[in-house]
Amino acid sequence: MSNGNPINFCVLGGGGEIGASCFEVSCNGHSILLDSGTHPKKEGLESLPAFSLLSRAPDAALISHAHVDHCGSLPYLLRQFPGVRSFATVPTVRLVDRMLHNSVSVMNTLRKERGIEEYPLYEHEDVSYAMRLMRGQGYQEWFDLPTRGIETKACFNHAGHVLGSASVLLKFPGHTLFYTSDICETDQELMSRYCPLDRSVEIDTLVIESTHGAVDDEHARVYEAEIPKLADAVAGVLRGGGVALIPCFALGRTQEITNIIARHQEAGLIPRAPIYASGLGRAIYEIYEKFPEYLSPNAELRPLNDFKRIGNVWNHETMEKLLHEPGIIVATSGMMLENTPSALIAEALTRANHHGIFFVGYLDHETLGYKLLHSQIGDKLRYGLGRQPVERKLENIKRFHFSAHAPRKALQQVIHHIRPKNVVFVHGDAEAIRWMQDNAANGCANFAPTIGQTITLEA
Ligand SMILES: [Zn+2]
Ligand SMILES: [Zn+2]
Repeated sequence: MSNGNPINFCVLGGGGEIGASCFEVSCNGHSILLDSGTHPKKEGLESLPAFSLLSRAPDAALISHAHVDHCGSLPYLLRQFPGVRSFATVPTVRLVDRMLHNSVSVMNTLRKERGIEEYPLYEHEDVSYAMRLMRGQGYQEWFDLPTRGIETKACFNHAGHVLGSASVLLKFPGHTLFYTSDICETDQELMSRYCPLDRSVEIDTLVIESTHGAVDDEHARVYEAEIPKLADAVAGVLRGGGVALIPCFALGRTQEITNIIARHQEAGLIPRAPIYASGLGRAIYEIYEKFPEYLSPNAELRPLNDFKRIGNVWNHETMEKLLHEPGIIVATSGMMLENTPSALIAEALTRANHHGIFFVGYLDHETLGYKLLHSQIGDKLRYGLGRQPVERKLENIKRFHFSAHAPRKALQQVIHHIRPKNVVFVHGDAEAIRWMQDNAANGCANFAPTIGQTITLEA
């Protein structure tokens, strides 16, 4: 039971924006970090949370899931503050290890290709060090945090977003906080929906994501209803002798989409043709295979061997081989950032009119993926630095909505269900956060702090 201690909540990143999520929660001279991400749209030191706001080492960090906007800066944090211990669910520990080593490789490439001197922000050894200090926990298990002198506990709750993803319950003496992080309230192909918090737990402060705050519920499509539409679109392309490209995030969407396609091939609804997945997507797939108990009870995860390797698309012969017969390519990046496999494959596909490009996730307005989706036949786009613009001849470019984030109506319900004293809106753009504040606060004291702001929350 709460005896009414205030906490301070400071935003280092992820307030009024999506990216570099990192929040410091402090109470009685102790502090815990919630997430330590990087910003996918920013580069170099700019992509980090504002660690300069930390006046001393946090007592511990809790990592909600392995998307880099939630974990990508952990090794950098440890360079500043060696010895900080971190906690995540058992699958998340494995995924974070894989994602961070990949980040080092990506940063090294960017340094070479783009001359970004600040990269890499950390090395493989820093990742190994961070992993030695990270402990895995199961869902619904309370564990003690290393806050000397006061008793602080945390517990992970199933968030339904990607493998191992969690919301965090954090209990300081006299103040209980619940951080949803990224939550999904619909069942996906492989993940079951989030697990609502037990009503008997009294929450003083709820910190909730606001990703879809600006999306009208009438436009919020249902995951399940989008599946047959995507399957039809892919089948149409294959029957016409073309290649279907589906740009996907490596963690989550790649595993979901490859399984959706394979299931429809088995049912005869999509013609048999090879399915390709990217290197990182495949490496993460192996981790999905190791944790069947964390997947939906309805999930039928196909063996990784059912899917082929895309290979190096910078190599001309690899690309020729990929495109010479009908196939389905599930490639990163999901938003088709320049110079990524999905961008280079799209560049080749848009030169003809018998292929298809199908986006299945969130597209930021400034990304190449968004520009391609909203371009017209005849428009020219550049798919990578130093590459010539290519004229669009391909008509069949569409978007399907497979969000792993709760629509705003579901976020309203979470607040209604938990009835906290304070609600803090994070992880959304300004418009999304404004809608949430106006329509979802449910009479609670509500806050929308941005980077550098600290708010005091009464219990
Ligand atoms: Zn996420
Ligand atoms: Zn996120």
